[in-house]
Amino acid sequence: MQPKRSVQTFSAVIMSGWIVVGIGIQINFVKSVILRIFEFVFCPFHEITGIPCPGCGMTRAFLALSQFRIKEAIQYNPFSILLFGLLLCQITPWSKKVEILFRKYSVYEILLGVVLTWWVIWRVIPCLSR
Ligand SMILES: [Zn+2]
Repeated sequence: MQPKRSVQTFSAVIMSGWIVVGIGIQINFVKSVILRIFEFVFCPFHEITGIPCPGCGMTRAFLALSQFRIKEAIQYNPFSILLFGLLLCQITPWSKKVEILFRKYSVYEILLGVVLTWWVIWRVIPCLSR
């Protein structure tokens, strides 16, 4: 089960990074360094098309989540809460049961449809109608 382990490792790395940023952002010096690093984070899709991709705002949302500003995180990207929950699930002992349930009920496919529908309605159409 090599792919499963890599998903868990990826999730663990993301969650560890989130915890480090969450703790670090409480310290003013570290906060200024973190914000300077995130100034260089950009979205190639958004740069080329002018339309934010479904993942745009995720970095700012995770930064907001690291300070428990959930409402702000949802405003940046509503799926940040969901992604955070999924990442958290991956590093728990129940990750295998959740994975089986998700596959049984095609949750990933349904989520993909929800994300793409949200993206078209809230991001693509408003950009195209400008
Ligand atoms: Zn993007």
